[in-house]
Amino acid sequence: MQKTYKISISGQVQGVGFRPYVYGLALEFSLTGTVSNNEEGVIIFVSGLEESIQSFYNKLIHLPPPVSRIKDSEILQVKNRDFEAFKIVPSQKGGQLNLSLTPDFAICEECQNDIVNPENRRSNYPFTTCVNCGPRWAITETFPFEREHTSIDEFPMCDMCIEEYRNPLDRRFHSQSNTCKTCGIELFLVDNSGNKLKVSKDAMFKKLSSLLTQGQIIAIKNTSGYLLCCNAENEEVVQQLRDKKNRPNKPFAVLYPSLNQLKEELQIDEGHIKSLTSTERPINIISLKDYKGNIALNQVVPGLNQLGVMLPYSGILQLLANELRFPIVATSGNIHGSPIISENNEAIEKLKDVADYFLQHNLKITHPQDDSVVKFSTKYKVEVLFRRSRGYAPNYFNSSIQSDKKILALGAHLKSSIAYYPNEFLYISQYLGNLDSYDVYGRFTKVTSNFIDLFEQEPNVLLVDSHPTYQSTLHGVELAEQSKIELYKIQHHKAHFASVLGEHNLFETKDKVLGVIWDGTGYGDDKQIWGGEFFSYESSVINRISHFDYFNWIVSDKMSKEPRLSLLSLANDEMHSILEGKFTDEEFKIYRSLKEKNKLKTSSVGRLFDAVASLLNICDINTYEGEAAILLENYIDHYNLNDCKVYCSVLDDNSIPIVELLYNLYSDFKNGNSKEIIITNFLFTLASIIFQIAKNQNFKQIAFSGGVFQNTTLVDMINILSQNQYKLYFHKDLPPNDENISFGQIMYYLNCMGK
Ligand SMILES: [Zn+2]
Ligand SMILES: [Zn+2]
Repeated sequence: MQKTYKISISGQVQGVGFRPYVYGLALEFSLTGTVSNNEEGVIIFVSGLEESIQSFYNKLIHLPPPVSRIKDSEILQVKNRDFEAFKIVPSQKGGQLNLSLTPDFAICEECQNDIVNPENRRSNYPFTTCVNCGPRWAITETFPFEREHTSIDEFPMCDMCIEEYRNPLDRRFHSQSNTCKTCGIELFLVDNSGNKLKVSKDAMFKKLSSLLTQGQIIAIKNTSGYLLCCNAENEEVVQQLRDKKNRPNKPFAVLYPSLNQLKEELQIDEGHIKSLTSTERPINIISLKDYKGNIALNQVVPGLNQLGVMLPYSGILQLLANELRFPIVATSGNIHGSPIISENNEAIEKLKDVADYFLQHNLKITHPQDDSVVKFSTKYKVEVLFRRSRGYAPNYFNSSIQSDKKILALGAHLKSSIAYYPNEFLYISQYLGNLDSYDVYGRFTKVTSNFIDLFEQEPNVLLVDSHPTYQSTLHGVELAEQSKIELYKIQHHKAHFASVLGEHNLFETKDKVLGVIWDGTGYGDDKQIWGGEFFSYESSVINRISHFDYFNWIVSDKMSKEPRLSLLSLANDEMHSILEGKFTDEEFKIYRSLKEKNKLKTSSVGRLFDAVASLLNICDINTYEGEAAILLENYIDHYNLNDCKVYCSVLDDNSIPIVELLYNLYSDFKNGNSKEIIITNFLFTLASIIFQIAKNQNFKQIAFSGGVFQNTTLVDMINILSQNQYKLYFHKDLPPNDENISFGQIMYYLNCMGK
């Protein structure tokens, strides 16, 4: 007996080859019917034998297409219908968008093979994609994910592409991003005055490779934005790139031509390989221990013993890599501090003094994204996300929100991101950057309005940081006034805590949770600058239970840029000599008197790292955010916690004597102990403090958030000291830094406010 069923599937199911896959499966089980995309996901009608339909459904749910992610599915028997065959029908837009958006996917193995095969009609064609790979979020204009809703729509398919698109047996059956050499995107090479060079399509990547070999800097328009590239083994050109980009020390990432070459030069393990070849394909930060290659390390990663590496993730980078014998620097195409550039004219205008040549194309990028960055801790292999962007944005899967409100959260300031809950899904934008930059602020407001437009939903709740002068806060206040939306200000570190609680769905937990929230700065409830906080979470309430002793916050913004000022603030009279030589007499006089008159206090652990770095003469002035802390961690090669000692302990009233900590550390330094030993003791002290507080106050669960937890050595030490007696929660899908604040604001609002 024939029966008809309706199947609804939601999740990341568009732009991932779902409909063609369903089509193939329907044929396999001799079913007739239809499949289409709508605002909620994929809708299938099937007619056939009951048993066949159930087998079809089981296989679909348990073995979906490789890059899809099913959130929910439903199967319902409906009135019998007769279909002639099984068909993919065009999507219909009836209501508002309510499904996961699709992130960009790294080029798949089959497409990689197509572009190197001289027999294949896509040989050498850099925009080769299929249902399993290619740009998605980068080219999305609106939804559902159909060609006419993306910027690829400007390139009508040729006859052969249409044939593939219509052929159920083809990998490009219903592939929305399908193009080829005949109908597709044009690549061209221009000099830095914008003049086109005469290079044939087939010779393009050979030409690029020879320019890179000659020591030229090339701005490459990739599918997610511009990258600035040069030969990583050429000291001179890397230094040139630094000078021109106005980026003296911040490490550059390197693109390796192949996994094999990467394996020959660096020590990587299975976890790295899995991450480096995943569809997200982030940059992995890897130790340079026993490094065997020829990269100009002093220029690429000045003063560091770790290197950010990645493998080609687009057809452009893959074709270039195939011509290269050496790794290349591949860093976001921008001027230091500005957002990544994606438009051709803007690229030439802004980068003409940086790049010698520009590889451009005529595909419009609607959502430019930086490369994402991860690092694994050495001992426990904890994966720490440093930057969440291409490959991850804009979906967030791990949430169980149920609210009638449409909530928009505008995040923090330094590492900004926004989060939106307009329907049944939660979306978190790509990393947007430091809002001090006018251009970054421009992109931030654009992404915010784009999110609202995309979902055709105005928020009715707006969440911002309680810092009165964060650009994101100011923008939120303005938006709320204009549109008469409820606005709530949420304390920075409580948002951090709520963020990690939310990632682990801990709001309903029976046992209280200790929140260890350490970062650079955040505006505190008492108007002081917090950053070394301990909270408790129990039954929807977050309480601050302890913090590092307050010390003077002097010279406002300058304090985060100059570690020597943190040292000056924390140094007692006996440490006076260590400050000499770090300041001119006049500076010293001014800063000392500022310190005496000062009223603003801080508990920042980030600034404590700065003070230690300055004390040990490792870094007095940061040239990039977090430099002092990164350089400190970098000193540690190996350690044994049994040989470590603490520089201070938690006092009976739960306070943490930070000046005593620094003074004891200073005494060790004066007595000639090595920097490696001192820094190891310092991190050991921090880790020990956490467990003293947990023990004193009877916590069994500890959650961590804040930029300090990008220190993977500290993360490992915490794991060692826990001895499996505590449940530890670190961020999983979000970075520990301020990129998680937007998500934390939503979590705080939903779970802790008004309760
Ligand atoms: Zn592919
Ligand atoms: Zn074509």
